[in-house]
Amino acid sequence: MLRTRWLITLWLVWVLAGLATTPAQDVGPPVETGDFRPSELVEIIRLDPTIKLDIRYATENNFVGRPVYTEARAFLQRPAAEALAQAHRWLQTHGYGLVVFDGYRPWRVTKLFWDLTPPDKRDYVADPAKGSLHNRGCAVDVSLYDLKTGELVTMPSDYDEMSERAHPDYAGGTEEQRRLRDLLRAAMERFDFKVYRYEWWHFDYKDWRKYRVQDIPFAEIPVVELPSPDPPSPASFRP
Ligand SMILES: [Zn+2]
Repeated sequence: MLRTRWLITLWLVWVLAGLATTPAQDVGPPVETGDFRPSELVEIIRLDPTIKLDIRYATENNFVGRPVYTEARAFLQRPAAEALAQAHRWLQTHGYGLVVFDGYRPWRVTKLFWDLTPPDKRDYVADPAKGSLHNRGCAVDVSLYDLKTGELVTMPSDYDEMSERAHPDYAGGTEEQRRLRDLLRAAMERFDFKVYRYEWWHFDYKDWRKYRVQDIPFAEIPVVELPSPDPPSPASFRP
C-alpha cells in the first residue's frame, strides 16, 4: 500500500514536471487572460513621415542573415506611436531625427529569433513563452539620424550586436557615440519609454501591460482612422 502510494506520488511529480516544462512556444502565442485594450496598431510614418525607417528584418542585414519580414513597415500601438512622434519632434530641436529599425513584431518572428539564438545569448532575445513587448506593439528599436546629413549616426555598437557594447551603460566607445546614445535615451524617457538594460536601441512604452501579444502579419493589420491635420485657423484669413 505504501509502495503504491509512493509510486502514484512519483508518477504525479513526473506528470506535473512535464506540464511545467512543456514549452508554450511549441503551441503558439501565450494564452493571456484579463482586461486588455483593443489593438490599435498605427503605421509610424503616417503620424510623421520625417521619421526614417531602416527595417533591417526586411533585409539580409540582420543577425538572422535573411529577411524575416516581407514588408519594410513599422507599427506601434497608437499611444506609443504618438509618444514616439513627440520624441522625434523633441530631437529635431537638438539636430537629430529618429530612425526606426523595428516596432510591432508578429509573435512567430520572436519564436524564430529564440530558436536561432544560442542559449548563452538569449538575454538579447525574448522568450516566446511570454512573448516580446514588440509582439504587443509597445516596444520599438530606434537610433538617430543627423538632420544636416540625413545619415544614421554611429553609436557605441551596431544594432542587434549581442555584446556588452550594446548595453546602455557601456562606458566604452567614443565620447560622441556615448553622447548620442544618451541623447536618444533622454528623448525616449521624456515621452514614457524605458530603455532595455542590454540594448541601447530597444525601448518599452509604459502601457505595454495593457496590450495583448499578437501574431498578425503586417499586411493584415487594419488601418486605423487618424484625424486629418487641423484646418487653417479662421484667424489667419482676417485682413
Ligand atoms: Zn527590440
